[in-house]
This record gives sequence, structure tokens and C-alpha cells, in this order.
Amino acid sequence: MTFDSLGLKPQILSALKQQGYTQPTPIQAQSIPILLEGFDLLGTAQTGTGKTAAFTIPIIEHVLNAPSERRRSIKALVVTPTRELALQVAENAKRYSSGTSLRTAVIFGGVGANPQIDQLKRGVDILVATPGRLLDLQGQGYIDLRNLTHFVLDEADQMLDMGFIHDIKKLLRLIPAKRQSLFFSATMPKTIMELSGQILKPNYKQVRIAVEKPTAERVSQCVYYISKSEKPSLLIHLLKEELEGSVLVFGRTKHGCDKVVRILDKKGISAAAIHGNKSQNARQKALKGFKEGRVRVLVATDIAARGIDISGLEHVVNYELPNISETYVHRIGRTGRADASGSSISFCAADERGYLKDIEKLIKAKVPLIEEHPFTEGAAEEWSIPENRIPAKQGQRSQRGQRGPKQGGRNSRSGAPAHGKRSSNRR
Ligand code: AMP
Repeated sequence: MTFDSLGLKPQILSALKQQGYTQPTPIQAQSIPILLEGFDLLGTAQTGTGKTAAFTIPIIEHVLNAPSERRRSIKALVVTPTRELALQVAENAKRYSSGTSLRTAVIFGGVGANPQIDQLKRGVDILVATPGRLLDLQGQGYIDLRNLTHFVLDEADQMLDMGFIHDIKKLLRLIPAKRQSLFFSATMPKTIMELSGQILKPNYKQVRIAVEKPTAERVSQCVYYISKSEKPSLLIHLLKEELEGSVLVFGRTKHGCDKVVRILDKKGISAAAIHGNKSQNARQKALKGFKEGRVRVLVATDIAARGIDISGLEHVVNYELPNISETYVHRIGRTGRADASGSSISFCAADERGYLKDIEKLIKAKVPLIEEHPFTEGAAEEWSIPENRIPAKQGQRSQRGQRGPKQGGRNSRSGAPAHGKRSSNRR
């Protein structure tokens, strides 16, 4: 299938060409025709497979077809769980509609509201927002949703989960019942799917791409069993000796992330943290620095787990495993996007093994185990890893194969993937 065969307007087709998109990804090929027909949709597909364009392109087409008297009124609303994702979705919508007169705006908290209010006053066709600021500005009378015809929940399972459901319920009372609703995510727990069914129209459609394997195949995975105190040493070793290029490290707490940055700083490894205690400016600066290659390591809480597209990111390290297994899928999905490959390395302390079990249940696969880590407590500064205990470097696999983790034993599940130093073609 080609984009040309979808019957999209020439301006959209040429914008897609400019992006270098030659053909629709599977989620796009299946969703776009359904959405152009006007059905509600629940779309599930692996991370990094083009869901944003799958909902944005048909919205742009619909909005361009709207009656002229509705020009510059909000006709499409996309709601995302994080500010960074809202910015990214808005950027994409702007790119895909660059050859049209449509106006896209983005609003989110943590920054001054005035520039956003000014934008709203000038008139907006497509609005991308996080829920808090959206409800706030709506309450103050700056947002009129009466002309809304398209409503998107990106990362829908998170938007309908505990943290956001109250805001979403409020929002649903503010938007017209006669609308097209589009829910997208890489993960869709059963309870959330049932809830979605109550919000979407009864004749809603579902597109499910590889739902039984939510992690992208192109992301190799492995896990170290390691004590908490040994984690800093292993991370430094991996960053200095094994992994080349940018690395996104996930921690569970804001304080923990800051601590990791301090440890890396001391070792001369450029790192920045991104989490909810940072100012929005600092968050955006850290992400930008990372995307542009000025910061090598970004240490993040799960605010960076969903949706963020960092082109060419090769490695994700789960310094601490997430207690919600879906989060693992989203975290490791920050690498291996579009056609790229990537690796995910998880550090699992004794008290995290239950989380690992849950993750493996969700992804229906064992995460290959590298080996119980050899460091002894307190030896964090002066150590070297015995050669047979480090993961294979690329190009040395066959040699290492003889010396690597034992096969079949307690500590070696099916061949741990290489995540060794690679020549980075990222920047
Ligand atoms: P998403 O899952 O929407 O974040 O998209 C993941 C990445 O795939 C982004 O970098 C997109 O620019 C890219 N992408 C989306 N659709 C296509 C396509 N049809 N062809 C090539 N790349 C795409």
C-alpha cells in the first residue's frame, strides 16, 4: 500500500514525502482508511511504529474538509499524558499539515499560560494538550470545545488509568457527544479496553498489530541480577566500556535519578536528569540536549517512558525495573523506533524479581539473563569485571560465545543478546 492510494489531499501527501515516508506502516495502513470513514477506533501497535501519524493524518484530512465557518475553532483535540509528548505530537501535526492553512497549538502546564492563551485567542484548528492545563484554561473560558469533532487519547491506557481518569471524565462532559474518538497505545490492559468500549461508539473498530508481542522485535533485551549497591558500578562500566552513543537510563524516583546523574558526573560522563521535580524549562533543555547529542546520558523517571521519539537512540538501561509491567514495554520502546534497532539492559535487584516475572508474563518471553553480577558490596570503585561476565561486544560474539554466560544453567537463559559498543551513526 502507498499513501497515494489512501485518497489523501495532495498537500498532506507532499508533506509526508518531505518527511521521507515512502509507505504507511501497518498501523497506518489499517487505521487511516477506517478513520477516514469516520469510525471510532481503538488502535494498538508496538512502540515506535508510527501511531502518531496514524491518527494525525486522517484528522488533518477531516479538519481540512470542515465547513469554512468553523475555521480557527478547535475541531480536533489530542490529549497526552506528558508535556514532552504533547510537544512532540504537536510538532508532528504541524509537519504533516505544513502545506495547509491549519493551525496547531500545544498547551501544557509548568510554563506560563499567557503565550498559550494568546495562541488560543488567535484561533486554533488542532489542539494538543495535557489534561491539567487544558481543564484549567477551559475553566477560565479560553477554550471553546463546542465545535470539536475529533478526540484523541494518545497513550490511551494511561489516560484512562487512575492518574488521569478523573480529568478525562471531566473532559468528556465538556466535548460534544457527536464526535469521532481515537484511542491509541502500545499496551492495552483488559480492564482499560473494557472502559474504552464504554466511551467509544458501539460500532467502534479495533486495529491490533502484534498485540501478543508488545515489545518491538528490533529491541534486544537482557537483564542482570545484581545487588542495589552494585548498580552504579555496573552502569559506569557499561557506559565506559560497553555502550557507545546515547543511553537513556530509567530510575523509579526523582531523587534516585538525581543521584545517578551525580555519580556519572563524578566519572566524567555527561548526564542530565528529567523528572517531575525539575522545572519545565530544565526538562525540555535536558531532552533537547540529549536529542542533539550534547548530553550522552539522560536519566529519567517514567515521564520519559511513553511516546518520546529520540531518533537513533540505541540503548535503554532500566537501572530500576518498573513496578507496572506495561511501563517496561514503553520504556524499552524508546529505542528500536521506525526501522532502527536497539538494546535494553535491565538491572534487577533481589526485591525486583517479582517485577521481572510480571514483565515476562506480559511480554510472553523470558528476558535473557546475563549473569548474577560479580561485584562485591563496597568494591564499587576498584573493580574489573571478569571477561566471561560481560556481555559480548559486537563483532566478538563467536569468540565470546565460548566464554560467555553458561548455557542452560540457572544464570543463563536463552542466549543473551549483544549490546556492546557499536559505531554510532546517530550524529
Ligand atoms: P511514532 O510511533 O508515531 O512515535 O513514530 C515513530 C517514528 O517513526 C517517528 O520517528 C516517525 O517519524 C517515524 N514514522 C512514522 N510513520 C512513518 C512512515 N510511514 N515511514 C517512515 N517513518 C515513519
